[in-house]
Amino acid sequence: MEMAAEQPLPLSSELLATSSVWTWIDSMPEGLVAFLLITPPMGGAVDMQAFATRACLGAPNQPMPDSTIQLVIQGADAVLAICGTETALRVSITPEWAQFVRAGGTVVVVIGADPLLPTAARREVDDYLLGAVLPRKLWMGKTRLAAEFTEDQVHGRACRCCGSAEAPLHPDKALVTRVTTGVVRDTVTAVCTDCLVLR
Ligand SMILES: [Zn+2]
Repeated sequence: MEMAAEQPLPLSSELLATSSVWTWIDSMPEGLVAFLLITPPMGGAVDMQAFATRACLGAPNQPMPDSTIQLVIQGADAVLAICGTETALRVSITPEWAQFVRAGGTVVVVIGADPLLPTAARREVDDYLLGAVLPRKLWMGKTRLAAEFTEDQVHGRACRCCGSAEAPLHPDKALVTRVTTGVVRDTVTAVCTDCLVLR
């Protein structure tokens, strides 16, 4: 067994910004589900497990947990935020995905341990997922649409987790992420001290 020949890097905002994201809708035994897959950047080992643990995701062979990922749809983008961290990820989504989620559809967030070429088509994504189950290189968790952000939350003047405007507010790190459906923009949301220490 290879032991720590290469210490994986923690998933910083900078690394998260170069991760890849795919979204699609697929059927599960319980019905249609909106999927969102995040994979680490190509090259170099990144500790996706720590990120998955923070988001309360579980292994695919376990009952799927509810993640702590907060999902908000803003126009053509989805903002994924994890309470207790200063990380928020803004990704482009398709109108169909947005409509499904807005209608109350279940979202499954999937985090992969290994990189996947950003140009991978759906079939390659399926192969990636199948190949990651047995070696446990995949974590999954459910989430659903959080309440809409208020204007103050959108502009970082109130906490995106609880809505408090009490200072000091900690701005989320601005992220730009490549996604299959386009390029995302910076996020300007913030989190309050109480929510930040809730790790
Ligand atoms: Zn808060």
